[in-house]
Amino acid sequence: MSSVDITTPAQTGIGQKRAIWPAMRKGLAGKCPNCGTGDLFYKYLKVNDNCGHCNEELYHQRADDAPPYFTIFIVGHIVVAAMLVLEKLYHPALWIHMALWLPLTILLSFWILQPMKGMTIGLQWANRMHGFGNEEDVDGTIWQD
Ligand SMILES: [Zn+2]
Repeated sequence: MSSVDITTPAQTGIGQKRAIWPAMRKGLAGKCPNCGTGDLFYKYLKVNDNCGHCNEELYHQRADDAPPYFTIFIVGHIVVAAMLVLEKLYHPALWIHMALWLPLTILLSFWILQPMKGMTIGLQWANRMHGFGNEEDVDGTIWQD
């Protein structure tokens, strides 16, 4: 009878669940979802190929359209709600609406877009999507049910 080398996820850490919220929080802060120390971005929306601290491979990310979608969703709810409240309370002139909400929409969008991309990458990393799942974790982020 020949022996077969069977390695389980419990032995390697590969294939085990990762904590989703901590990874998303680290991504939201622009940090590596694995170690939380290395920078996720080297430019505004450009993701490092590897983490500078733990060398986690980050090029697997496929955030694509999700961060702009989340950004539009959040900014739209903030701006439209505030616009309606202002209109209902003070009925300002149209130019005041334009002077307020147009710059606010642009500024909020630029402010929120990068954290949304980081959060999306953290979510993908935690769920081992797009090639994020084939390596061993290094910092104890593994958890079990
Ligand atoms: Zn890292």
